[in-house]
Amino acid sequence: MRAWLADVAPDPAVLPLRPSGSGGVGDNDEGEFVDRARAWQVVLHRAQWVGVSWPRAHGGRGATPMQELILREELGRVGALPSPIFHVGLAVVGPTLIAHGGGAQRDRFLSRILTGDEIWCLLLSEPDAGSDLAAVRTRAEHGQRDWVLNGQKVWSSGAQFSRWGLALVRTNQEKARHRGLSCLVVDMHGAGVEVRPLRQMTGGTEFNEVFLTDASVPDDHVIGEVDQGWRILMTTLANERTLTGIGASWFSEDELLGLAGRVERRGGGARRGRLASVLGQLEIERFFDLAAQTALNAGGSPPASSSLKKLLLANFVRQASDLGLEVQGPFGMLAGKGALDQGTWQSRFLDAPHLRIAGGTDEIQHNIVAERILGLPPDLAGG
Ligand SMILES: Cc1cc2nc3c(=O)[nH]c(=O)nc-3n(C[C@H](O)[C@H](O)[C@H](O)COP(=O)(O)OP(=O)(O)OC[C@H]3O[C@@H](n4cnc5c(N)ncnc54)[C@H](O)[C@@H]3O)c2cc1C
Repeated sequence: MRAWLADVAPDPAVLPLRPSGSGGVGDNDEGEFVDRARAWQVVLHRAQWVGVSWPRAHGGRGATPMQELILREELGRVGALPSPIFHVGLAVVGPTLIAHGGGAQRDRFLSRILTGDEIWCLLLSEPDAGSDLAAVRTRAEHGQRDWVLNGQKVWSSGAQFSRWGLALVRTNQEKARHRGLSCLVVDMHGAGVEVRPLRQMTGGTEFNEVFLTDASVPDDHVIGEVDQGWRILMTTLANERTLTGIGASWFSEDELLGLAGRVERRGGGARRGRLASVLGQLEIERFFDLAAQTALNAGGSPPASSSLKKLLLANFVRQASDLGLEVQGPFGMLAGKGALDQGTWQSRFLDAPHLRIAGGTDEIQHNIVAERILGLPPDLAGG
């Protein structure tokens, strides 16, 4: 991998634009953002560095989760990770289709995920169903030929440039909450699907509201069995979470050390201590990742310590971006091209709070730590 990277020597001008850690479009032009993301995906795909943990039969390399983590670290080191707009397809939809999809679905969708031709989004959360996802209310009723969907999704990252959405919908009103849900593939360009971007304080529109009004989904776009959506999706999501938000994809060690030079000039002692603490956290977070991948490699499920890692990451990113902005002093107020460091520290500072919500809020992680690691009594609100 290193040899290939050294050979290709990725020119920053061809790498995906990264205005913020989570991959929001930021103040970039949306078209340019997607084009650059795709162009780099093509380079990675040609060299078979995409979907490496997918089986060979489906275009991957059959790599272990640990090997995939190592690969991500190497790419992250030089800012060459695939754009986060492909994350849902590569880390959630692909593995879900490989495990539960039919042959025709795999043929239709998998290769276009690897090449970056088709972007996917996740249509799970709703205004009244987030932490408690089993409360999903979007209904799918079987009409004469197709499923007909009605409801609203929210927080749907990347829906504005997605070709397909993987939706969790209620197909059975009679069965218990978790049992009446199914996973369907929604055509994001189809009739009855309206995407409304939500503007964030970063200035970007990373996520959206999605309104489904009599949107139609054919039978062959149901993944796995009808009413088995919860079981299908939860395994994939649990595995996916162990890979999300690795610290190295936010800040490289080199970048943090580069900050050290400025810390010397702007404040010395106390700030140096904070920087050391941030670097220490980056390393601890890496060990949590390695522990999780070791468990997955051995065929186990993600350990409860993944929740500690998620809490640590949210805290680490906040502290690091606070420090970066502080070190820039008044210049930190300038944003965008031409600003010091292109305003990256500012955009990270504004983006950091999302980590306390996305992928399970801090409170939900605290509940998991309390119950599964400390053995405290169960959370009553969570049921
Ligand atoms: C940047 C970003 C991107 C996202 N992308 C997607 C996406 O692509 N697709 C998608 O479907 N979703 C996405 N989400 C949604 C995300 O998964 C939810 O926001 C998250 O699960 C929380 O749900 P909620 O917002 O409905 O908050 P709620 O569940 O309503 O929680 C509100 C508050 O109550 C607290 N709370 C809730 N339950 C408990 C409990 N049992 N014990 C203690 N406290 C509790 C929470 O911690 C929180 O502080 C994204 C979110 C963000 C921030």
